[in-house]
Amino acid sequence: MTLRAVVIGGGQAGLATGFYLRRSGLVPGEDFVILDAAAEPGGAWARMWPTLRTFSPTQYSSLPGWMMPPWTSDSGYPLASHVVDYLTRYEERYQLDVRRSVAVGSVRRGVEHLVVHSDNGELRAEYVISATGTWSRPFIPRYPGSFAGQQLHTAGYRRAADFAGQRVLIVGGGNSAAQILAEVSLVAATTWVTMRSPRFLPDEVDGRALFEIATRRHQARQRGETDAGGVAGLGDIVMVASVREARDRDVLHARRPFTRLVDHGVRWADGTESAFETIIWCTGFRPALGHLAGLGLRGPDGLIPTDGTQSIKEPRLHLIGYGDWTGPASATLIGAGRTARDLVRGL
Ligand code: FAD
Repeated sequence: MTLRAVVIGGGQAGLATGFYLRRSGLVPGEDFVILDAAAEPGGAWARMWPTLRTFSPTQYSSLPGWMMPPWTSDSGYPLASHVVDYLTRYEERYQLDVRRSVAVGSVRRGVEHLVVHSDNGELRAEYVISATGTWSRPFIPRYPGSFAGQQLHTAGYRRAADFAGQRVLIVGGGNSAAQILAEVSLVAATTWVTMRSPRFLPDEVDGRALFEIATRRHQARQRGETDAGGVAGLGDIVMVASVREARDRDVLHARRPFTRLVDHGVRWADGTESAFETIIWCTGFRPALGHLAGLGLRGPDGLIPTDGTQSIKEPRLHLIGYGDWTGPASATLIGAGRTARDLVRGL
């Protein structure tokens, strides 16, 4: 039997796609399935550190159909656990029938369909929608030399208390770096390194501004106008309460990168060295596309060229949620919904 669609990944992008597939009349579990390698719902949100806050209020962090319930526990924005609860209830509410603990190893071309190979067997589908996110591919830039202390990536960070009393180097200029710096600097001596001066959004600007920028881009594309570029500001730092408080403590000073790692720390461009017990790399993620390698679709930049969400070389394949290259703000909660709507319309 050939399914209409197989969605790989049951995070927010996979769920938003499931919502629109279902709304188009397809029956979850019969006409399409969502496969997810993880045992629990929530996608990457289930793996983030517990004190992480979203950078927008709940009404601007919602998937299609059902708003994220208000966050009432304190005056800040929701914690990651609130997003996990929401995604868990979302897939139940729409009975999306996510098949968990099913990892897809590869997708291959059949005669008239695509074949999805997982550790639970094979499925044939007219369309495959890849929504595997980036969390499983943390990125750490290469530096010459080596460091004998502890190193971890954002993906492995859990709590500030683990670094109490240490000298900690935090590398990266985005929201993860700023939020981790804010809390680690309460218990450790921190140094912050960014490629260029960090860009802080004004206090009153939050994820809503990103949504509005994404909306303008979307409307421009609908009108056939030239795309003005990426979601300006997605890498800009939102001044959530912990980051504002760190600013008040005067710890938000970043210096430019070191030139090499040394045994006990790093060497700076002027030849001086600084010692650290730990380096935390908040240096981002790369799209998890290994399961698509057999299709031979990657361009020179390592990404798969798309028209919207559709692979140019393999039109039966769509990609959603990895970044702006798969739809404006498609890697955000609110942007995933709009991208999924256009994707399903296009099938
Ligand atoms: P994921 O949530 O990563 O889901 C992918 C799913 O695919 C996972 O469940 C995984 O198990 C599964 N999978 C992967 N590979 C396979 C495979 N081979 N076979 C089967 N299943 C597989 N966005 C906002 O809107 N607001 C925010 O405040 C915000 N803060 C963020 C803070 C941090 C630190 C980070 C990293 C991101 C943040 N984002 C935020 C961005 C965005 O919402 C997340 O990156 C989001 O989790 C991406 O959703 P996704 O569904 O594309 O991928």
